[in-house]
Amino acid sequence: MIEPEPSQTGHVYLVGAGPGDPGLLTLRGMECLARAELVLYDYLVNPAVLAHARESAELVCLGHHRQCRRMDQGEVNRRMIQAAAEGRIVVRLKGGDPGVFGHAGEETAALRAAGISYEIVPGVTAVLAAAGCAEIPITHGEHSSSVALVTGQERRAKASPALDYGALAMFPGTLVFYMGIRSAAPWSEALIRRGKPEQTPVAIVRRCSLPDQLVVRCTLGTVADVIREQKLRPPAVIIVGPVAAIAPDESWFSARPLFGRTVLVTRPRRQAASLCNRFAELGARVLVQPMIEIAPPPDWAAVDDALDRLEDFDWLVFSSANGVRCLLQRVCATRDLRRLGSIRLAAIGPGTSDELAAWRLRADLVPGQYRAEALAEALADQASGKRFLLARASRGREVLAERLEQAGGRVEQVVVYSSNDVARLDPEVKRAAEEGRIDWITLTSSAIARSAVRWMGRRLGGAKPVTISPITSSALRDMGGEPAAEATEYTIEGVVRAVLLAEMGGMPG
Ligand code: SAH
Repeated sequence: MIEPEPSQTGHVYLVGAGPGDPGLLTLRGMECLARAELVLYDYLVNPAVLAHARESAELVCLGHHRQCRRMDQGEVNRRMIQAAAEGRIVVRLKGGDPGVFGHAGEETAALRAAGISYEIVPGVTAVLAAAGCAEIPITHGEHSSSVALVTGQERRAKASPALDYGALAMFPGTLVFYMGIRSAAPWSEALIRRGKPEQTPVAIVRRCSLPDQLVVRCTLGTVADVIREQKLRPPAVIIVGPVAAIAPDESWFSARPLFGRTVLVTRPRRQAASLCNRFAELGARVLVQPMIEIAPPPDWAAVDDALDRLEDFDWLVFSSANGVRCLLQRVCATRDLRRLGSIRLAAIGPGTSDELAAWRLRADLVPGQYRAEALAEALADQASGKRFLLARASRGREVLAERLEQAGGRVEQVVVYSSNDVARLDPEVKRAAEEGRIDWITLTSSAIARSAVRWMGRRLGGAKPVTISPITSSALRDMGGEPAAEATEYTIEGVVRAVLLAEMGGMPG
């Protein structure tokens, strides 16, 4: 029997990216992105979604935006077909759902005609996210038994039949206008002329599911004026019908404690995720601008030498998660974890012991308070005659070594990573700081505090500094700044709680 030739053709996934919040991408969409070699994405797609693509994937933005290439539908089709015909895996990533005003029909017809295999991965369309995040049920037992999705830009789609405003005015349910901001006057007047009451409730939901989501309520008779007066710009969905009036003034989304606030997270990028996620979950807009970078030490010789003599030490002491990661990476690159043998491990706090746990190692000691003084104190009792190896940063504090030596310990320090100030600020962050748009800035170490002041000035662009500990606060004060909040537990979660406490003026729940 003759084996069929393995197919040389690629495949196209038409994937809905959801309305904005990157968490609203489907699992299937994420899988497709992870295998894509070429991603053709619309400008409305949140760039955070692209983080699921491989680093080697080619990412091409399409659409009406300064950073994007303008491509007409024919060019998009040709590009997809050509890439797939070359054997590449293509993701065509669209805002919301690919089939809702997303030209999925045109694209699949072209793929079908070219004999290219494809799959459609649905996404959360804008109005469903608006309904969820603004708490406007688009169907409702008493108020609405049907929904119509309507385009406000009908004239551009010349081939489609004209909207029948008479039928829409009589439609027994909720009308949802997409792309209806600029055309609000014509469509609202057309509906009123054909008998839809001017008093019909309307809700405009702009940038739904995003931290700057805006909900404006009005009526069919006032919608065009409201859009003009408030200078509302796309993207927004406009929900027309009784359900628009029954939503609570404050939805769960806008009631979150940090909604409307902008927080600048300054940790090194690989450590920033958990803090960013916590703030985002609490409703904040999160910007990331690392103030320091973690790099290998200039020279491993001293570290390697200490690793060769590890049995000479009683304790290996870590004062940061970075220290754990960098040292253990070195151990594994030059030998393996058995080298640690029975040496005892001390960690300054839970972040550090968590990093040890990620390497399947358990800290023998974590002090009750997460700072160098407390760690020294916890070790001091048994320090006499003991030998300590301290894994530290290039710019670290000396207090731990000093205290252990005072307590009779023999201390050797090795620099396992260097911490350097970043070389530049992201222009978007710089602009936000200059315009005073940042509410909070997190300062999670003394080095970060110093670098932040060097980059942003003593006033930090008007952002309120929240520090992780009194040590970081005093580093900030030494630079002429003043913390607005300080963590009482010296952890990342402590930083989040300090902000909540300051915002709410009471204990967070
Ligand atoms: N396929 C998309 C719609 C594309 S048409 C979907 O299923 O959602 C573009 C229109 O979608 C915008 O003009 C606006 O009406 C709507 N839209 C997209 N993202 C939005 C958002 N985050 N908030 C409100 N409306 C949005």
